[in-house]
Amino acid sequence: MKDHILIKNLEFYAHHGVYEYETREGQRFIVSARLFTGLSDSGESDRLEETVHYGQVSEFLVSFLTEHTYKLLEKAVQSCMEAVMLEFPLLDGIELTLQKPDAPIELEFETVAVTRTMYRHTAYIGLGSNMGDRQALIRAALQAVQQHPLCRVREVSDLIETEPYGGVPQDNFLNGAAEVETLMEPARFLAFLQKLEKEAGRVRTVKWGPRTLDLDILLFDDLIMGTRDLILPHPDMENREFVLQPMAQIAGFVRHPVSKKTMQQLLDELKSRQ
Ligand code: AMP
Repeated sequence: MKDHILIKNLEFYAHHGVYEYETREGQRFIVSARLFTGLSDSGESDRLEETVHYGQVSEFLVSFLTEHTYKLLEKAVQSCMEAVMLEFPLLDGIELTLQKPDAPIELEFETVAVTRTMYRHTAYIGLGSNMGDRQALIRAALQAVQQHPLCRVREVSDLIETEPYGGVPQDNFLNGAAEVETLMEPARFLAFLQKLEKEAGRVRTVKWGPRTLDLDILLFDDLIMGTRDLILPHPDMENREFVLQPMAQIAGFVRHPVSKKTMQQLLDELKSRQ
């Protein structure tokens, strides 16, 4: 297991529960957390500033979970993890367990617990537009990503003018790429990007046809996955100069998790094939 700090079995009194008497009277809860963060710097330097202060995290956990009330342990854990990750930027991830030892079960039992994890991810997104004020649409989308509490835009490439791809006659595109740090999981991140596309008024009529705004997830950490709705890395990215050119600019040394080639290498290879 990676470097982490363990906070084990912090007890407190709170009001989470589905039943009315639970939210009214409250009961005992126990929270534990594994705080994933690189410990080699602080292990070397012995300086508190270089690590996550477990005392502060403990206080934060208990304050958060006593000041808020949720019906489900799952939701309490999710909201608490998000808040901790936002409050402590040195954290790479967290595993949180919330126990309810006096849960309403009419049987002998020790405890009931929910455990969830959350990590800080690095995603690269492709940006495209070929209708309306293309630059303004892309800028507005980036601003919306930046304003989402669970996302930070870390880097944005230049926007380049490109010829349409896929054979449908239409106006030129403006394309770019951005590096985004996010606490969302891939499916939630895709749904968020699709909401932004929809808000920009994109109407999908023709495959590869004109669009006011196109936001694709190119890479998500080094995740390789395929579901009906989401394929990662983005399929066919190695054959698209309008993707590789901006990616080479902001992430030239980042490797494609399948071919293991860097973005710069993929761009050079594509150009030499053309
Ligand atoms: P497009 O019209 O090119 O924006 O494609 C959108 C469709 O591709 C949606 O139905 C998505 O669910 C699907 N899709 C699959 N993989 C990805 C990905 N990595 N990023 C964005 N959309 C994806």
